[in-house]
Amino acid sequence: MWEDCVEQKQLSHMLQQSLKNDRIAHAYLFAGPKGSGKRKMALQLAKGIFCREKEGDSCDQCENCRRIASGNHPDVHFIEPEGTRIKISQVRDLQKEFSYRGMESFHKVYIMNQGDKMTTEAANRLLKFLEEPPPGAMAILLTEQINSILPTILSRCQILHFSPLSPKHITDQLVQMGIRPGLARVAAIVSAGIEEAEAYCQTESFAQVRGLVIQLSEDIVERGTYSLITLHDRILKRDSFNEELNLFLDLLLLWLRDLLFYLLGQESQISNMDQMETIQKQAKRWGQRRLVDGMEKIMETQKRLSGNTNVQLCLEDLVLRLQEGS
Ligand SMILES: [Zn+2]
Repeated sequence: MWEDCVEQKQLSHMLQQSLKNDRIAHAYLFAGPKGSGKRKMALQLAKGIFCREKEGDSCDQCENCRRIASGNHPDVHFIEPEGTRIKISQVRDLQKEFSYRGMESFHKVYIMNQGDKMTTEAANRLLKFLEEPPPGAMAILLTEQINSILPTILSRCQILHFSPLSPKHITDQLVQMGIRPGLARVAAIVSAGIEEAEAYCQTESFAQVRGLVIQLSEDIVERGTYSLITLHDRILKRDSFNEELNLFLDLLLLWLRDLLFYLLGQESQISNMDQMETIQKQAKRWGQRRLVDGMEKIMETQKRLSGNTNVQLCLEDLVLRLQEGS
């Protein structure tokens, strides 16, 4: 239902009005970052066209709504990159499919995910299709990279810009899915959008890495050089640490930021809110000045690691520098 499209309220209101007034465009381009609700909105728009129960909206119960949700509606087609690209043969097949009348109604919809992944030939072919759409056809192109779409295609589409979801919004959604609020909030902040945040929460490694970050922070202030052993034996030795490296640094930065918020009396800003007792204990040991320095050092390390640097040396150096002043 349109009222479920809470991620992009303005856009969903606009589309709903267009449906109501029968002013739907032939082609839309939904542009915005990963996890901003483009696909959900595209499905909602398709349901709004085909739902048997609610005109211009979806009941999410009827056969049409259910078939669209599961990707099995005969008049709603999905195109995704095959491998890394969307190929001309896929666009050709689509055109052929659309040369027939809709199976169940006048309308036919295609939703193209990652439209920026079209080859040049595919894009040119699609352009022709957009210029002379068969009656009743509607295109919804989705992209995270609007700059990679041909200007001639853009000029044929009504463009809707999707803004990134706020961390609060992502947190609320994760909590609704049954994820613990403390973990949900942290995942929402360090991830790029709802999909990544959800994926984080579903793996054990996310909670483990967060636990290790908290432990390392404690060792740095309580146990001095022992923290290097924690780094070596418990963090660097993890099988999946290469993939976890960026997450590790993001979580460490977030943790120090939380400690700082605590010292500044801004507790409502704290992300790891399920760890208040530990935060209280660690924050005083760190001290304000050192936390600010520490955060700077972590950001420097993130920059260094984006080049071709030895990860182990770089992290050892970071931990040693974080200890300075203790
Ligand atoms: Zn329905």
